[in-house]
Amino acid sequence: MQLLTQLDQAIGDGDHGLNMARGFAALRRAYDENRNDDFPGLCKSLGMALVMNVGGASGPLFGSLLVEFGRTATGMPRTRPEVSSLLAAGIEAVKRRGKSDIGAKTMLDVLVPVRDALSAEGLSIGEIRGHAADALARTRDMVATKGRSAFLGQRSVGHLDPGAQSSFLLVSAVCDAVEQHHAG
Ligand code: ADP
Ligand code: MG
Repeated sequence: MQLLTQLDQAIGDGDHGLNMARGFAALRRAYDENRNDDFPGLCKSLGMALVMNVGGASGPLFGSLLVEFGRTATGMPRTRPEVSSLLAAGIEAVKRRGKSDIGAKTMLDVLVPVRDALSAEGLSIGEIRGHAADALARTRDMVATKGRSAFLGQRSVGHLDPGAQSSFLLVSAVCDAVEQHHAG
């Protein structure tokens, strides 16, 4: 949480750590209440929990991602192409809601490369995590053109984007879970 706060203090308003902590507490409650629902229903409930409980821009954006997973999925995704197309649909929802695209120094600059890595043939989970880390690092040199950090223009250069950092943490956690699942 401190890392996200520090990054957002540099190029935003310093609330990203708190927003994500609050969002994930709400996500946990929504999960406990809806854990018996099917995968699409659960995604929608979790996404709405983020939309409703996070004040910053990131809540509605991550929320849209999850709600769109729920709208697109017909069941629990089992294969990499299924996960990839779900992520693609979610990304389109984030782009629509945020009126943004890659290169604007946002969460999309991690999410889109991860989607690309997922659809590339034969990458290991470790390599996908590596692509996500590289994508996060590239946000340092970008000029922010969307969200609060866009007010800084050129002065946003030299700092990682907070939402890209939290996206990396989320992707990395999913990678860990998949690795553990395969090991167990
Ligand atoms: P706020 O900017 O309202 O304070 P947060 O600090 O929680 O909200 O989240 C900031 C992050 O949200 C940014 O670092 C960026 O990754 C993401 N973000 C902001 N605006 C947009 C947008 N229009 N499209 C995509 N992502 C965005
Ligand atoms: Mg902020």
